[in-house]
Amino acid sequence: MSQIRVELTKAPKQKPQDENNLPFGCFYSDHMFVMDYTEGQGWHDARIVPYAPLALDPAAMCLHYGQEVFEGMKAYRTAEGKINLFRPDENFKRLNVSNQRLCIPALDVDFCIEAVKKLVEVDKDWVPSAPNTSLYIRPFIIATEPHLGVKPASEYKFIIICAPSGPYYKEGLNPVKIYVEENYVRAVKGGTGVAKTGGNYASSLAADAEAHKQGYSQVLWLDGIEKKYIEEVGAMNIFFKIGDEICTPMLNGSILSGITRKSMIAVLESEGYTVNERRISIEEVIAAYEKGQLDEVFGTGTAAVISPVGTLKVGEKVMTINGGKIGKLSQHLYDTLTDIQWGRIAGPKGWVVEVC
Ligand SMILES: *Cc1c(COP(=O)(O)O)cnc(C)c1O
Repeated sequence: MSQIRVELTKAPKQKPQDENNLPFGCFYSDHMFVMDYTEGQGWHDARIVPYAPLALDPAAMCLHYGQEVFEGMKAYRTAEGKINLFRPDENFKRLNVSNQRLCIPALDVDFCIEAVKKLVEVDKDWVPSAPNTSLYIRPFIIATEPHLGVKPASEYKFIIICAPSGPYYKEGLNPVKIYVEENYVRAVKGGTGVAKTGGNYASSLAADAEAHKQGYSQVLWLDGIEKKYIEEVGAMNIFFKIGDEICTPMLNGSILSGITRKSMIAVLESEGYTVNERRISIEEVIAAYEKGQLDEVFGTGTAAVISPVGTLKVGEKVMTINGGKIGKLSQHLYDTLTDIQWGRIAGPKGWVVEVC
């Protein structure tokens, strides 16, 4: 296994002063992790170096054909001043799933965890300590070979950058307004929906822009074939509480397998609930609403943890869920997962990985 060389910055940046007003993904820490891949040689030259712009050949393949994958995770500062990661193994296993789909060479999961731990340790003063703040971590891979023919590249860069981020919600969990997207689709089975790759986001921008124009924050995607079954929301998976049932769309080959989703299911099952992973049609959700059984709807993802849905619009029909307020179950799940992440309660074995 290769060693990680460390070159510390000689010009540390000024850290943002007001931790409570740190916008998401706008400031970056002093260092970044970089490792190169060359065909025949494999991944090599792992290093932590001062954060700086990249020099890329204008013919670098990522710029032309979108061969790129990424991950999103956080480092959390506990009340005792320690720093935790949450299930980093899941992020790098998923990165390899994305790699496989995009024909990018696999990474060693344990080595990636070491790399993140070392980078966060080097930049530990960039992990904010105000309540509900964290250091957002963005590992990603780009194809760097200069070549204009379409094929998997023979050279890549694996990079990790860190962005200190303020609380996602400033005044408690704020329910969002979303609508069901009826024109565009995000992914289809056999496509790249199961991979965390930039192209999926590029193709969702037009739908998001239209949603914003109408006063909605995101769209709820339906399956790309029948436009009947619920898939997910932007960068979040989705759950429903319909009467006594908790359900979420099953992983069907076009949905991204969220780590928050997986963790919520585990937490619920450990508390004796059953979570049904199944096909959920939009008609079923409307019917449940009409019967007064659509108790809660919430999205799950690393950034927000839980995002309660207060308003769900389908065509001309506007449904207000739980009076537009966060539901009991959503709040409970948010509290439980964040308590585990910030080290206030013990989670299942292996979920929390201490950095320093
Ligand atoms: C990252 C992502 C999610 C959420 O995954 P987490 O691991 O919970 O952060 C859901 N859907 C899409 C499309 C995503 O890119």
